[in-house]
Amino acid sequence: MKKYQSALNHNIFRVITQAAEELQLESYVIGGFVRDHILKRGAPKDIDIVAIGSGIALAKKVAEILPHQPKVQVFKNYGTAMLKAFDMEIEFVGARKESYQKDSRKPIVENGSLEDDQNRRDFTINALALSLNEKNFSELLDPFNGIKHLEAKLIKTPLDPDVTYSDDPLRMLRAIRFATQLDFKIEKESLDAITRNKKRIKIISKERITTELHKIMLANRPSKGFALLHKTGLLAIIMPELTALEGIDEIEGQKHKDNFWHTLEVVDNISENTDNLWLRWAALLHDIGKAPTKKFHKKIGWTFHGHEFVGAKMVFKLFKRLRLPLNDKMKYVQKLVLMSSRPIAIVDNDVTDSAVRRLIFDAGDDIEDLMTLCEADITTKNPKRYARYHKNFKVVRKKMKEVEERDKVRKFQPPVSGEEIMQTFNIKPSREIGIIKDTIKEAILEGDIPNEHKAARELMLKKGKELGLMAN
Ligand code: ATP
Ligand code: MG
Repeated sequence: MKKYQSALNHNIFRVITQAAEELQLESYVIGGFVRDHILKRGAPKDIDIVAIGSGIALAKKVAEILPHQPKVQVFKNYGTAMLKAFDMEIEFVGARKESYQKDSRKPIVENGSLEDDQNRRDFTINALALSLNEKNFSELLDPFNGIKHLEAKLIKTPLDPDVTYSDDPLRMLRAIRFATQLDFKIEKESLDAITRNKKRIKIISKERITTELHKIMLANRPSKGFALLHKTGLLAIIMPELTALEGIDEIEGQKHKDNFWHTLEVVDNISENTDNLWLRWAALLHDIGKAPTKKFHKKIGWTFHGHEFVGAKMVFKLFKRLRLPLNDKMKYVQKLVLMSSRPIAIVDNDVTDSAVRRLIFDAGDDIEDLMTLCEADITTKNPKRYARYHKNFKVVRKKMKEVEERDKVRKFQPPVSGEEIMQTFNIKPSREIGIIKDTIKEAILEGDIPNEHKAARELMLKKGKELGLMAN
């Protein structure tokens, strides 16, 4: 049997071996750690240990031996324990045999052997185990040809895929997530089984679903995952707003683009330029308002009037349904969806200072992200158009820099305060103050006056007079 000594150089494994020998039980490192070591995926965040016996007892013994004597978190219901050491989370579980009932992903659990425990793992590449026992330290136990499948870049279940996915439907999303993260292929039998079992996803909590979606979203090429979700029919269950964008309609020879596949391209494009999860979500959702707003007009063809506004409202509903946070992250995604056509409108027309100033004012600190989104939105296959758009974006960015340096509207603070207006005209809080402040803001954005106190004060006096106010 092959040995993987180099995977187990870290001191923590010696400590676990010592603890297990003291308790006279066998232990193995299993799952993601072994897989990622062989794939050379960089420093591990977590390590999973299986004990043939009590995982909780092993964790406690390991904590005793470790110099910093870490706290052991025990999850009695699951028979697992976790401790932190050397910046890693180390999870301990007793080897177990699982059997499932139809309406729950919570199995009935009994103690079992290492093989029983490997049988309950989701994929062959996640069932690899290395021995931590003195007699055969670092020996690989690979009952399902996981190594071969790692080399072939294949996602395959140890048991009958229909059973694996039906027992715990979360595995369907995990399969697609691993295929996306690792750029692996899902074996055909597995993909067919996912398609057959797609409805079982309904027993999975929204939180678990979105955890997997986030991981897909953060991969190098998220489109791979979304295409698989679509192909298996899972996407239509989880996010019907997205699949509603699929298809090209043609009336009187006029077609619109397929907004679903366009969206996936936009998500891949943006992923080359940002790791910001929520900016990637904004890219995924930027066109969702297009399905409900689509119309055909004899003269102008296909339109999606107001899709940004409708889309921003849909963002709220979708976040609520998927139990995504309804906080500033959601507001940020809504804002980007709402503003998603603004930069391109400027790029398309003559780039005036005032249009740029208004864009910066409305976007505030999110202006850079909005520009990143709009550039990713360019998916035209016409090379001339593609070059022209990108060139125009450069022009807009340059102009933005000039305008911002001069006028500083990004973090706009009114140059004349309400306080000053009240004192000048000797008035109490009233409608007039709002009118004067608004007039000043509009004049600055239009470029009629500079963003300075002196000019703003003059305009205040003039407007006050118009409103019939008397200056002190
Ligand atoms: P990552 O940590 O990168 O998400 P991982 O493979 O370590 O990948 P974890 O969720 O940390 O995934 O799970 C650790 C191990 O537990 C997996 O490698 C797998 O063997 C097993 N496992 C996790 N979830 C399931 C599941 N739903 N069904 C079967 N086995 C699972
Ligand atoms: Mg893990």
